[in-house]
Amino acid sequence: MRTAPRAPRGRLARARCARRTWVARRSGYAGVVVRSLYLHVPFCPHICPYCDFHKMRRDASLVQRYLDRLEREAQALSARYPDPLDTVYLGGGTPSHLSDAELGRVVALLDRGWGFPAAEETTLEADPCTFTPIRLEHLRSLGFDRLSIGLQSTQDAVLRFLGRAHDGRQGTQAVRWALSAGFRVNADVITAVPGQDPERDLRAVAELGVRHMSVYTLTVEPHTPFALRGVRIDPEREADDFELAALVLAEYGLQRYEVSNFAVPGEESRHNLAIWRGRSYLALGPSASAYLPDPGPFGRRLRNPDMRGYLEAAAPQEERLSARDVVLENLMTGLRTREGVDLGALEARTGLRLEALAPRWLGTALRHALLRREGARLRATEPGLARLDALLRAYAREA
Ligand code: SF4
Repeated sequence: MRTAPRAPRGRLARARCARRTWVARRSGYAGVVVRSLYLHVPFCPHICPYCDFHKMRRDASLVQRYLDRLEREAQALSARYPDPLDTVYLGGGTPSHLSDAELGRVVALLDRGWGFPAAEETTLEADPCTFTPIRLEHLRSLGFDRLSIGLQSTQDAVLRFLGRAHDGRQGTQAVRWALSAGFRVNADVITAVPGQDPERDLRAVAELGVRHMSVYTLTVEPHTPFALRGVRIDPEREADDFELAALVLAEYGLQRYEVSNFAVPGEESRHNLAIWRGRSYLALGPSASAYLPDPGPFGRRLRNPDMRGYLEAAAPQEERLSARDVVLENLMTGLRTREGVDLGALEARTGLRLEALAPRWLGTALRHALLRREGARLRATEPGLARLDALLRAYAREA
């Protein structure tokens, strides 16, 4: 799956991955309230050759050890950050690949820690092969209200090329079932795939009636089977498909509100928006990343180890953020979105002015209409969104 924002690792890496994731009760840690949680389920029914996420095939005993560790991790985390959650996102991997009993354990550990479901939105990433109408009823009864479905395409040849286990008919049927069951549905679509008719895919998915779509251009990540096979993506095709998605989906009322995400107004992912707005979030599971607000003033990022270290309870990687890191991170997440970045609020928080940190970068981006200022807000224009990775790399070089 590729929907939840993935946490950045390291300063320049953060710039590189830019295109890619309130009920009051006093916290156990003075002044700290965290309202969102991401939980990583690394098991997949099949391994896609383009995927560089932390994932693996399941085996029953490994799943049991993973769940045991997850229970201990949730217990410790909820003791420190006990406030009820607004959003919970189960990503992966393929969380819907867990059996009903296994998913029941995940729900129970979240319920013991924070209460379940979350107050505003509880999302499960799902593969079309892993549910039926009966299973969807069960998922609803557990408390999930939003499904993010790894559809990717409606064209059989494209799905075969991507190494997906479902065909176009199974994928579209899965989306129809999810909508009929009353879920808010996101459908993932990949464009710029060799041999794909992207407009046909975009229209076919929009016509299913989904009110949220995540549209990614295929990227060939190092060390993946696609990279080893020498698969190449035409950069012009990538740029064309990026523009095409906005034009086609606007006809169906789906507006681009983030580089890769489109929604009918009001149907945006609340979990992802919270993260793109720079809010703190908790994380559970192997390779999962958190942004915690303590210690002050700027908090820290934690990244859990991959499965082997995770099962041994190895310590997560920790990075304490400086004021400059906070500015970079806010630009990286905020400029992805239509909302942009509130430079006044950022200055009040960090004591840093963007005009002083990167004057040349800011002047050039404004002059070339890649960025736009409206009062205290700085937003990326449509051409700026298309070049966001390069724009953020240029910022990181100067600041
Ligand atoms: S289903 Fe999603 S997470 Fe699993 S291998 Fe495929 S793309 Fe990666």
